[in-house]
Amino acid sequence: MTGATGTLASSEPWDVLIVGGGPVGASAAALLQLATKDARQPLRVAILELNRPAATPPDAPLDSRVSALSRASERILTAMDAWSLIPRSRMQPYERMRVWHESVQPRSTEVLEFDAAYAGEPNLGYIVENRLVQTAALTAFESAGGKVIAGELSRLRVHDHQVDLETTTGALSCRLLVGADGARSSVRESIGLTAEKSSYRQTAIVANVRTELPHERTAWQRFLRDGTLAFLPLADGGSSIVWSADDSAATPLLAMSPGDFEQDLLRQSDGVLGAMKLRTERQSFPLHKLTAPRFTAHRCALIGDAAHVVHPLAGQGVNLGLLDAAALCELVTAAHRTREDPGAQRVLRSYERWRKSEIEPIALAIDAFNRHLAHGSGPLSRLAQRGLALVNRTDEVKRFFITRALGLAGELPKVARHPPSTDRPSIS
Ligand SMILES: Cc1cc2nc3c(=O)[nH]c(=O)nc-3n(C[C@H](O)[C@H](O)[C@H](O)COP(=O)(O)OP(=O)(O)OC[C@H]3O[C@@H](n4cnc5c(N)ncnc54)[C@H](O)[C@@H]3O)c2cc1C
Repeated sequence: MTGATGTLASSEPWDVLIVGGGPVGASAAALLQLATKDARQPLRVAILELNRPAATPPDAPLDSRVSALSRASERILTAMDAWSLIPRSRMQPYERMRVWHESVQPRSTEVLEFDAAYAGEPNLGYIVENRLVQTAALTAFESAGGKVIAGELSRLRVHDHQVDLETTTGALSCRLLVGADGARSSVRESIGLTAEKSSYRQTAIVANVRTELPHERTAWQRFLRDGTLAFLPLADGGSSIVWSADDSAATPLLAMSPGDFEQDLLRQSDGVLGAMKLRTERQSFPLHKLTAPRFTAHRCALIGDAAHVVHPLAGQGVNLGLLDAAALCELVTAAHRTREDPGAQRVLRSYERWRKSEIEPIALAIDAFNRHLAHGSGPLSRLAQRGLALVNRTDEVKRFFITRALGLAGELPKVARHPPSTDRPSIS
């Protein structure tokens, strides 16, 4: 770190500059912008984004990149005025999850079923296209007066009082730099937070399908001996498949003809949704686990996939990232209220303590599910597979899982804690 003289940037530094306007970065920016919009001195917030998606035409077919958004995420997106920007006609509420292991029948009592009604909720969450969440958050940010700068981060230098950035479209500087630039974060690399990354040796195959039987507003997930096959219900009546298969199984699945793939889907889903027809191309994503050893460094914080990447089987990546965004916003706006620097070490330490302690146990639990339910035939795996049926019969354990599916467990940021109409981020 060096003194601030001879810096790359010439204009007034941004209070907060967020590199990466994906769903998580755009949400952090919108929350910060809205929270201080009416303050005597609003925070000056900007996003640097290299690849902003175009608006989705209302009649465009549903994209195959979708996420299951939790109740906590719904509240966060509502608090920043982005939820209402996502068209209802493209959003599918899901009311239950049915999870089973390939060793049991899909309609038997051994199938683990989580029903929203059981927790007195209308649904467990919503299946929404990723690009719609991202564009809604960017629009909410801009409507509140925020600025999205097109460009890619090339280099950065951290000084005592500010961070200077070189980008493909010019120089920038800020008092707090937020890395929201995804799993291959250049911010994380540039500030020396080398992440522990390991491959699951699995590939997620993603596509949209039309099914013979209705999805019943249900997310279906079958644990196989060499992976996990999930069907997420879509607003057009079809389903989005996420098939996390061992690499050795994924290669032939991607290479086979659409007809053969559809036959395999029917077999591996045990026919729960009847015959299937592909509606989109198959896309593939190699699966990695990643945890940054620290989520913060001097004047810098990491959020979303830049800080942690978990296996998609629990559908938690965006949900955890939105909680990072809300937690950081809460701490930065509280500091701003008392005229504290947004990049103050105290603020960043609190953020890191808060979110690391929430994420680490979740990441461990997701890994254990993947290891023992989707794989393995040892005694622990057999116990875990039988455990699914036990969870079904134990009310308290079942409620524990439903609360987690709703994203309402742990230490929640204020905006995620209450129904949105009663709690909006604000600064007095
Ligand atoms: C198959 C699959 C299924 C999934 N299903 C779910 C699910 O059901 N529910 C769920 O919650 N999560 C799910 N996830 C996880 C989820 O997709 C990620 O957690 C989420 O996209 C992370 O969002 P992000 O904003 O942190 O990062 P990203 O979405 O990766 O966004 C990063 C942004 O930064 C920009 N950027 C990158 N580098 C630079 C740079 N140098 N300069 C400027 N801009 C830059 C990129 O253009 C991008 O817009 C799934 C993941 C996979 C692979």
